[in-house]
Amino acid sequence: MQVRLLLLVYVALATLAAACPSLLNHSAPQIVDHPHLNRMLGRRWTEFVTDLQSCVTRWPRGQDRYTRIYYCYATVEHKNQLKDLISAALALWANALGPAGANSQHSLLVVEHPLHFCYTRRNPNDQNSPFVWNQNIPEETLLIQVDASTGSATSHPGFSNGRQETHFGLPTAGRHFMKVNPNLINMFRNNPHRGMETARASIAHEFGHVFGLEHEHAREDRDRYVFFDCTGLEGYPEAKARLQAEQQAGRTQDKMSQVCYFPDVAKKYGFGRIENYSKPNTFRIRGGVSFELRRRHGFEYDVHSIMHYGSSMGARYWNPNDLANAKVPLRRWRNGGPNFQPPKQATNQNSELIRTNERPSNLDVEILRILYPS
Ligand SMILES: [Zn+2]
Repeated sequence: MQVRLLLLVYVALATLAAACPSLLNHSAPQIVDHPHLNRMLGRRWTEFVTDLQSCVTRWPRGQDRYTRIYYCYATVEHKNQLKDLISAALALWANALGPAGANSQHSLLVVEHPLHFCYTRRNPNDQNSPFVWNQNIPEETLLIQVDASTGSATSHPGFSNGRQETHFGLPTAGRHFMKVNPNLINMFRNNPHRGMETARASIAHEFGHVFGLEHEHAREDRDRYVFFDCTGLEGYPEAKARLQAEQQAGRTQDKMSQVCYFPDVAKKYGFGRIENYSKPNTFRIRGGVSFELRRRHGFEYDVHSIMHYGSSMGARYWNPNDLANAKVPLRRWRNGGPNFQPPKQATNQNSELIRTNERPSNLDVEILRILYPS
């Protein structure tokens, strides 16, 4: 069984690698490596932008040595809804990183494009007229928009030079995007206490993806530090029922263990959120093409990273007044560590709930200094 599973992984990875044209043969944007990059990488954090075979890279550095990530709001309406939340999230990073330059040892600047809006207005008399990309804004600019169809928020990871999307016949304008669900905006506006913190931390987390960071809890060695319980994830009973119906009808050989591990299998049963916890991670661009995210991580596990989910995220049962009975997808082993042999089950004795991180950690700052050195 294990051999078959491994074969499956191998085939899946091979397919994805083939679907992602190597950027090595193209003239990639000029990126200056940190002199200590090779020595330091692979020690602590989880990122996917330094592997040369990867479809996505770090954002390119300008000639003045600053790395500017320009963003534009889709339209003025989107800006009016989003600007306070985006500013609050960027302030979290600015407070953690300090201003770009030699003192703070990073070159990262996130700047609103002076021409503001990614799209020129639709024809006001025709609601079906398409949005048209603003020709005065570079196509690589990060598009920020409200989108009720997205989870809470979702982003394009890292920088894509656009060639692979041209390759698949997809437009390159707006390929770097951040979509924010209106619920998150309302949470930010309506709850000045914990809700506000969580909403802006969610967007700070999204900017982490934009910079090139990946979920810390999806590291390959995460099981030595945290317990991922698929049954504690919202939507598990429904996915299981759908699978059982298919099994009973003789239409599938899939097993729940696969549904809990492989995002592409999980999606067949409406359980796509497994992707946020899944170790074999893929990144799906518009048009349904999947890329493999080749993650690097290292020795120290950072449960305080802004890229690490708290236990309440996606929980099947979460009541702040009844935490003993919480039914959650992630718990932290009390004695976790690089050599820890995890037990089969988590209890309140051997594990604990993970708080939602409200700001970037020291190690988040450290990796950004290395990805975007001054
Ligand atoms: Zn995320």
